[in-house]
Amino acid sequence: MAMTQSSLLIAEDAPESGKRAQVLVPYPLSRAYDYLLPGDMSVQPGDYVRVPLGKRDTPGVVWTLEGKDKIDPAKLKNIQQKYAFEPMPQVHRQFLEWVARYTMSDLGAVLKMSLSAPEALQPPKTANAYTLAGAMPEKLPAARRKIVELLSDGVPRRAVDIAREAGCSAALIRSMAAAGQLAARPASSPAPCRDINLDDTSLTFSKDQQSAADALRKLAGAGKFSTVLLDGVTGSGKTEVYFEAVAEAVRQGRQALILLPEISLSAQFLERFERRFGTAPALWHSEVPAAQRRVTWTGVAEGKTKVVVGARSALFLPYADLGLIIVDEEHDASFKQEEGVMYHARDMAIVRARLGGFAAVLVSATPSLETMVNVQQGKYHYLQLPARHAGAKLPDIHIVSLKLAPPSRGKFISPLLEKALQETFAAGEQSLLFLNRRGYAPLTLCRTCGFRFQCPSCSAWLVEHKRFSRLQCHHCGFLQNVPRACPSCNDEDSFAACGPGVERIQEEVQGLLPDARTFILASDVITSPNMIRGAVRDIEDRKHDIIIGTQIIAKGHHFPSLTCVGVIDADLGLSGGDLRAGERTFQLLHQVAGRAGRGEKMGRVYLQTYMPEQSVIRALAKNNRDEFLAVEAREREKAGMPPFGRLAGLIVSGPDEMKLDQFCRAVAQKAPRYDDIRVLGPAPAPMAYLRGRHRRRFLIKAGKEISLQKYLAEWLSTVKVPSALLLKVDIDPQSFF
Ligand SMILES: [Zn+2]
Ligand SMILES: [Zn+2]
Repeated sequence: MAMTQSSLLIAEDAPESGKRAQVLVPYPLSRAYDYLLPGDMSVQPGDYVRVPLGKRDTPGVVWTLEGKDKIDPAKLKNIQQKYAFEPMPQVHRQFLEWVARYTMSDLGAVLKMSLSAPEALQPPKTANAYTLAGAMPEKLPAARRKIVELLSDGVPRRAVDIAREAGCSAALIRSMAAAGQLAARPASSPAPCRDINLDDTSLTFSKDQQSAADALRKLAGAGKFSTVLLDGVTGSGKTEVYFEAVAEAVRQGRQALILLPEISLSAQFLERFERRFGTAPALWHSEVPAAQRRVTWTGVAEGKTKVVVGARSALFLPYADLGLIIVDEEHDASFKQEEGVMYHARDMAIVRARLGGFAAVLVSATPSLETMVNVQQGKYHYLQLPARHAGAKLPDIHIVSLKLAPPSRGKFISPLLEKALQETFAAGEQSLLFLNRRGYAPLTLCRTCGFRFQCPSCSAWLVEHKRFSRLQCHHCGFLQNVPRACPSCNDEDSFAACGPGVERIQEEVQGLLPDARTFILASDVITSPNMIRGAVRDIEDRKHDIIIGTQIIAKGHHFPSLTCVGVIDADLGLSGGDLRAGERTFQLLHQVAGRAGRGEKMGRVYLQTYMPEQSVIRALAKNNRDEFLAVEAREREKAGMPPFGRLAGLIVSGPDEMKLDQFCRAVAQKAPRYDDIRVLGPAPAPMAYLRGRHRRRFLIKAGKEISLQKYLAEWLSTVKVPSALLLKVDIDPQSFF
């Protein structure tokens, strides 16, 4: 059918069948829009296409074939190109729609998370790989001889790799190829993690591990939806057990995804994976270089890549046939994305499993309250690994009341912990001091006039970093030098540091044990996965005696010689007024405590606190997780808080405080009133000023049976957000800053 150019033609008369398709593009648009098909093109839903959008072209996905817009075809644009690529599976498209509906996000913004390597759609640029060809002249110049030596192992290499390894120019390689000394052929990067070793006879499981592995294998192979919690203390061998479920899914010809928090920090995890499967997994996180992303994305979409290990964004890769998801450290707060599409990767993983008809396995030593309640209500299967692997013992936990045995003036380590550090050092063992605060001091003030250094763009104090002799804002990154004179009263050298950061603790330890080798493990000191790997190796090799670390130390590392852990401020984190503050603190401290004595030796843990009677601290001391969760659950149920009720947050922000408040009042007035829904706010957010924007929050609270999305849609449809302001919806908020 020829395409008409008449602008008089109304939509009802437009040529319909097969000539239009609705294409979703990865931009913040709520739905797919109509495009015309050029005469010789046919598409099906899921096909990747290139379409014009405004002045540029963008990749997109054919969402439906039926054009729904009653738009004059003369105003529609043509699909420019159909990519030669497997279509996005229907179940994946359903998943994206589900996520968009649930999080109240634009469908296009959700698609963007799937089109995370758009260059993968383009045909690969073929680079050549070189090998030695034929006879070489007797005498070669040194540079050429180096290339010949390098290639004499017979492994084909790309020009860039030869240039790097042999220290020569790419031009020299080309000229040798032209002279017939090197043979060139197109190089292609194969999909990662294609062939994995499924049967591992070297495994020796304990009885508990074996029965948990058998149960998981059965669920993973059942070909139907289920959720299971694999609950086990640190070091109980959970990872090896769930690897058996991964093997089962792959054995059935399907793909498996392992979600991990802070993937870049887990070098030890990757080593275990390689030991079990004889190959590295396909990695997916923000630091994977673009070229590798492209190869991995393609391998996943074509079904060649069998196992992906990734951060939360890996959930949105367009798997050809996903058949299992493991969510390791399911309680971890980093599974919640707080920017853009605000989703919880653990919860969305369960949705993905339900849509795909397979098993989701949640794994933790300190499961979230949500998950435990689901177990108790019989919604999730439950597997427990009770005993510690290899017979190691759980540490002794001591509560140090800072009221009864305070540190001396200006110090932060109590006499009891000092003594433990000295004894541990004398015994030739390692200690860890945990304080979740980077820098030297969280607040710097003038002793003369009381002036405090504050960030100009945030309601936050500037943190002193002695390493860089700077003051820094930990929210927006603002930096300034420490001035000589007070900006307020001009007194010189009048500044005092208030409170401890890890740098200050290091200073104190150096005064206490001048011979001990100390080391700071914090995200501003250790900035890349390689540095973390190096630091972990140095600790294992006992190059450090006392490690002072922030929460990056809490993640899954195993240090056999570490026998003493001191938590400088166990109360930190409990004071935030956050719904999950107690739960998070318990999880974090439990993980840190789990660092002690994981080898042959018994560990001990000292928790410094001003609130020894607090339920979190008491449960920790008893090492009684279930008691803690039971107390926490009772309190939440009484208050109708999640998981016994629903919450949503509205965050409104803008540069002009008056206009913001005016708008928020108007929004509040429009809130539809129902008996069983409470709207709290607007109130200044705890971070009332962030990166130059003022912030207000609403909190919407309702019973479990109520759809907050429907309520919010009804409410927000009456609201027009001015362009200077930003209104964000946060369903199931995890943070309340
Ligand atoms: Zn002053
Ligand atoms: Zn700031």
